[in-house]
Amino acid sequence: MSRTETGRLMAETGVVPKKSKGQNFLIDDRVADRQVDFAGISKEDRVLEVGPGLGILTSRLAECSDNVTCIELDEILADHIGNTYGERLRLIRGDAVKVPFPPFDVFVSNLPYSVSTPIIFKLLDCDFRKAIVMVQKEFADRMTADVGSPDYSRLTVNLFYKADCRLLEKVPASRFKPKPKVDSAIVEIVPRPAPFSVRDERLFFKVTEAAFNHRRKKIGTSLRTAGMIEDSWNIPFLDSRIEELRPTEIAEIANAISLCHKQ
Ligand code: SAM
Repeated sequence: MSRTETGRLMAETGVVPKKSKGQNFLIDDRVADRQVDFAGISKEDRVLEVGPGLGILTSRLAECSDNVTCIELDEILADHIGNTYGERLRLIRGDAVKVPFPPFDVFVSNLPYSVSTPIIFKLLDCDFRKAIVMVQKEFADRMTADVGSPDYSRLTVNLFYKADCRLLEKVPASRFKPKPKVDSAIVEIVPRPAPFSVRDERLFFKVTEAAFNHRRKKIGTSLRTAGMIEDSWNIPFLDSRIEELRPTEIAEIANAISLCHKQ
C-alpha cells in the first residue's frame, strides 16, 4: 500500500487519523511482507491482529491463514475491514485492552502506541507460539535491553521472565502516514518458561517494580522505603543498583524475601 493508495483509502472511508488511537498507517508493502514472513504462519494457525486499520497486514494474514481474528476500536475502520473481508475473517469491534482475546497461535500487530504496554502484558498471559509487533523504537529498546544499559527497565525484566524478545528491524517514521514524530521497530516475542526459578511470581514483580521506581538508589534503600524488607533479614544484592542486576539475581532477592516471610 503506497502513500497515495493509503490516502485514497483514507478519503474513501472518511477516516481522520487520531493520535489518541495511534492511527499512523504503515505505507510500505515490503515492511508488511517481512512482518508477516517473520511470523511464520501456517494455514492452520489461529492468527490474532490488533488494530487492522486500513488492512495492510490483514490482507497478508488472510492469505496465510484461514483463521484470522482482528480487533478494531475505530468504528469506521472496523466497517472498512468488515466490508472488505466479510466472512474471510472474524472481526471483533472494541478495545483490545478490554475485550477477551480469543485463543490464538500467532499474534501480529502494528500496535497503537498508547496501549502498547497493556496489550503486551495481556499477550503474555496468553498461550501462544509467537508474536510480531511493531512498537515505538524507544519502547522496542526497553523491551530488548541488556543489563546495565540505560534502557534496561521493569518492562525488560517482566518480559524476560516470560519470553525471549528480539528487535528484528528498525522502521523509519517516514514509512507511516501520517508520519509520527518517532521511529518504530519490529520486535519478535517468543514465550518460554523463565530460565530461573521464582518462588512467588507476584513478589518477583513487586521487587522489580519497587527497585526500578528508584533505579539509581541502592536496592536495600528502595525495598526498605517500600516496606518490603526488615533489617534482620538476610537478603542478597542490597548494596547493588537494580540496573546492574540480571533478572535471575532479582529473582534471588525475591526468593530470599519470600523465605523470610515464611519464617
Ligand atoms: N494495522 C494498520 C497498519 O499497520 O497500518 C493500523 C495500525 S495503527 C498503528 C493502530 C490501529 O489500532 C488503528 O487502526 C487504530 O484504530 C487501532 N486501535 C487503536 N486503539 C485500539 C484499541 N484499544 N483496541 C483495538 N484497536 C485499536
